[in-house]
Amino acid sequence: MNAPIRHLVIVGGGTAGWLAAMMLGRTARDCEHDLAISIVESSKIPTIGVGEGTTAVFKAVLDHLGVAEAEFLRQTRGTIKYGIRHRDWRREGVTYDGPIDDPHMLVKGADGSDFLNVFSVAAGRPVSRLHLFDILMKRDLSPYRREDDGRMVPVGPFQYAFHIDNAAVGRFLRGQAQGVRVVDATVDGVVRNAETGYIEALRFDDGGTLAGDFFIDCTGFRRQLIGKEMNGAWVSYADELPVNRAMPFWLEHDPGRDIQTYTLAWARDAGWMWQIPTQDRLGCGYVYSDAFLSVDEARAEIERALGHAIEPRADIKMSVGRVARPWVKNCLALGLSAGFLEPLEATSIHGTVVQLLLLAENYMKPRFMPDEAGAEAYNRRVGRQIDDFRTFINVHYATERTDTPFWRHVRTSCIHAEARERLAAWRDHMPRASDFEDILSGFPHVEAQLYYPVLDGLGLLDRGLAKKEMAALPALRKRAREIADAMGGEFGKAAASALGHRAYLSSL
Ligand SMILES: Cc1cc2nc3c(=O)[nH]c(=O)nc-3n(C[C@H](O)[C@H](O)[C@H](O)COP(=O)(O)OP(=O)(O)OC[C@H]3O[C@@H](n4cnc5c(N)ncnc54)[C@H](O)[C@@H]3O)c2cc1C
Repeated sequence: MNAPIRHLVIVGGGTAGWLAAMMLGRTARDCEHDLAISIVESSKIPTIGVGEGTTAVFKAVLDHLGVAEAEFLRQTRGTIKYGIRHRDWRREGVTYDGPIDDPHMLVKGADGSDFLNVFSVAAGRPVSRLHLFDILMKRDLSPYRREDDGRMVPVGPFQYAFHIDNAAVGRFLRGQAQGVRVVDATVDGVVRNAETGYIEALRFDDGGTLAGDFFIDCTGFRRQLIGKEMNGAWVSYADELPVNRAMPFWLEHDPGRDIQTYTLAWARDAGWMWQIPTQDRLGCGYVYSDAFLSVDEARAEIERALGHAIEPRADIKMSVGRVARPWVKNCLALGLSAGFLEPLEATSIHGTVVQLLLLAENYMKPRFMPDEAGAEAYNRRVGRQIDDFRTFINVHYATERTDTPFWRHVRTSCIHAEARERLAAWRDHMPRASDFEDILSGFPHVEAQLYYPVLDGLGLLDRGLAKKEMAALPALRKRAREIADAMGGEFGKAAASALGHRAYLSSL
């Protein structure tokens, strides 16, 4: 990599491939790089589209790319997402919500501490009550109110997320991307430089080739370049995240209620079931461990839980983990090619977007001429990013459930050392911003604001400890009470003015 990259070749036309083309293309235009972008996608190999949830960063990127939300939701039939409802995780019969808005965005402690959360725990209030999104999601409301002149005005300052069908989003992004050459072909090999090992060209199964300077592998679980050609080593999370199979299916909406604005994650006998609404239907599925349940048993359990038969759309076997080095020579893996964890906290598309932001900010400016030291720095940061996702998801399994062999196994044998260390530290002090190192140049990551609702919902926060911390800071406690009460009032008013979710979607 000792000359600027002039031809970027992306293999794979799913959400990861098209996000890469759009985001890197935009940076190249902004920096006036002379960069051609090609996408190779195979009409013989379908993309993944099971009903997916994004995080707020996805909306921020669409805004940055100039994609209008109304157009996006109209064309992809997506919906609004405020967070995740966790049913039966702590124990059967207990539900908690994880709203994604951060109340500390409005007001920070002097040391950057999450003092409103600490106050709530000390006061015995659920931390989710500090969130506007908690009210909106409980009442199926949109994030907008309609003014008398018909304009839609946001009811709050927070970024929400979307529920989508990735196959539809891939098609939408394809229609939005500018100046990208699309090649319909199936890659079955590469031509490599004999001395450096760099990829010089792709080889197609029809005998064709395509030369390039830099190659992004977005081929999903196939990992056509990073796995098959660059022989990337694999870091498995199977020991701590044993859920390894997915059975997706569709359900019709309940005509008697509005469209839900949360992902439902319903803990079951050997994993959990998801429900993600798009405008036309619910994308659903059961992600489970096949060490505890056969495919037939999984289907039977779903049908028992729902009280009716289902039509499974697929039986997806998942390798849970990540490639050890996503960037090898002039090949970079992105999306499912870079790794996959069970979709409990919607980390997949989020991770892809943040990796693209890192790449655009740190490697394309002022020139797009990365070197090997830069590639290794990227690998360390992205490795850490995905390991942090692993630890966060792993903490969800530190529950009280012992009712099935799966839950007894995860409780006793699957909690990773890092998760145990974090939980031990939070018996000593309440979670705070300084517990989380900024490894991603300030781009959004799993930090205290996401942990709090989960730890609270699982009963893993110590009220006595929170009281002690607040008692040591009486002025801060007073301020926290005033702010929390004021926020409650403001959020109630905001919710009272918000349009229903379906009404908003129908108005687009
Ligand atoms: C059960 C399940 C649930 C999920 N839920 C969520 C969620 O809630 N939130 C979330 O963020 N993410 C979720 N994900 C992950 C999410 O679906 C992916 O991050 C997203 O769809 C991006 O996928 P991708 O573009 O990497 O791969 P894919 O969608 O698989 O696309 C791969 C592309 O590569 C092409 N291709 C493959 N091989 C070749 C080849 N040899 N030659 C040429 N082209 C090739 C294909 O044609 C296709 O265009 C979930 C995934 C699964 C399996």
